[in-house]
Amino acid sequence: MLLLGMLLTITTTHTPATDLGYLLHKNPARLQSFPMSFGQVHLFYPEASLDRCTVALLLDVDAVGLVRGHESEGFALQQYVNDRPYVASSFMSVAINQILGTALGGRSKERPELAQTALPFAATLAVVPCDGGEALLRRLWEPLGYAVAVDHHVLDTHVPEWGDSAYFTLHLTAEVCLQELLTHLYVLIPVLDNDKHYYVGDDEVEKLLRFGHGWLATHPERELITKRYLKHRKSLAQSALARLVEQPDPDAMVAAHEREEAVVEERMSLQQQRMGAVVATLRASGARRVLDLGCGEGRLIGALLADKQFEEIVGMDVSYRSLELAHERIHLERLPEMQRERVRLIQGSLNYRDQRLAGYDAAAVVEVIEHLDPPRLAAFERVLWEWAKPGTVVVTTPNSEYNVRWEQLPAGNFRHRDHRFEWTRAEFQSWAKSVAERFGYTVKFLPVGPEDAEAGAPTQMGVWTRHGY
Ligand code: SAH
Repeated sequence: MLLLGMLLTITTTHTPATDLGYLLHKNPARLQSFPMSFGQVHLFYPEASLDRCTVALLLDVDAVGLVRGHESEGFALQQYVNDRPYVASSFMSVAINQILGTALGGRSKERPELAQTALPFAATLAVVPCDGGEALLRRLWEPLGYAVAVDHHVLDTHVPEWGDSAYFTLHLTAEVCLQELLTHLYVLIPVLDNDKHYYVGDDEVEKLLRFGHGWLATHPERELITKRYLKHRKSLAQSALARLVEQPDPDAMVAAHEREEAVVEERMSLQQQRMGAVVATLRASGARRVLDLGCGEGRLIGALLADKQFEEIVGMDVSYRSLELAHERIHLERLPEMQRERVRLIQGSLNYRDQRLAGYDAAAVVEVIEHLDPPRLAAFERVLWEWAKPGTVVVTTPNSEYNVRWEQLPAGNFRHRDHRFEWTRAEFQSWAKSVAERFGYTVKFLPVGPEDAEAGAPTQMGVWTRHGY
């Protein structure tokens, strides 16, 4: 019989560390084995002292038995076992759910408070397949607050089927509640392995939403996580994403914005190109004190922080929720004081005159104007160009001519349902020139993203310079 393993260890240094046994509802003194549909899972504690306690979950996946047991069911187990003998990934999640279900649900009979307390944890996955390499491992775990260390692994050549795929040992450390650690592992272990395996049904969507609650909606890689978790079944992933953003608060539209646009723009990572173009323009203008108006989740702020030229960065948004997300995204609390002092997040609306915006070198307004009601545009123009009057203004907005090039976009639709309008290049330029004339600026235009001969680039950017600046 071919036995294939996967090992997860979780260590805590909380004292008394042996409380881990209570949290997991598993006695540290005993080895326990659990028969599962795919083989055996063994749970044991390699160490259990007051200072340090480690639990190990070892999967023995019985590949031969798996195939035999399911011959009649007609789904692709046979093939998957043959193709990828090492795919224990989704089985590890099944094991976490079935064997550590109480802890996964955040409950503990003996230590209910401890179950809700952040404790020092270190988790190691002895071997994980990850086609995206170390970079993907970091992109998945670091936003959740884990310190990530990765050992690169060349597997034993005794099993040639393992081929030369990328396998890693993944070490994670963080102060989190056990439940958080387990739910992150539950969702992300199968995501590391990008292969399709067993049938994914609707209840997988439920599981994803349940275990992703509280962290997935704000994870920068939520698209990738959702798609991979649902094994690229588009309709499932879409319904999960849609439900992830169904929040009763009025800011839900804002939260949905990035996600939806991200789906449409995904293929070319237009967002990154846009940020790059805006940062480069601001840098070239010589600006040191800059405004990011309608800063949303703070993508641009993060990029500006990385450049020392920008001494003062003020992000403003009308949505409090967005500001909270921006706060989290740039880890404001954790930044060293020198860095933290460069950034300020303020709530405010571009529809009203605001003293706080006066006297800056430059302002960026990235993918915001299309969210303003056309009748409010005139107010916004005065707020920015007449009263705030920065030396340089950078505005980006979708180029509606390009929309015909997006395959997923039904003709005549906007890229996001909260967009009040989307302009052609001619429309944007005539508006921009009239603003420049009325308020004493000159304006230039730059395309952002891959240019189509007829439709132009997906994003259009206007750069205004105040006369005499
Ligand atoms: N600039 C960010 C976010 C774009 S989404 C980025 O490129 O990632 C549009 C943002 O504009 C949202 O965060 C929304 O809350 C904000 N917004 C919409 N109307 C606004 C107004 N009147 N005043 C200030 N911000 C506004």
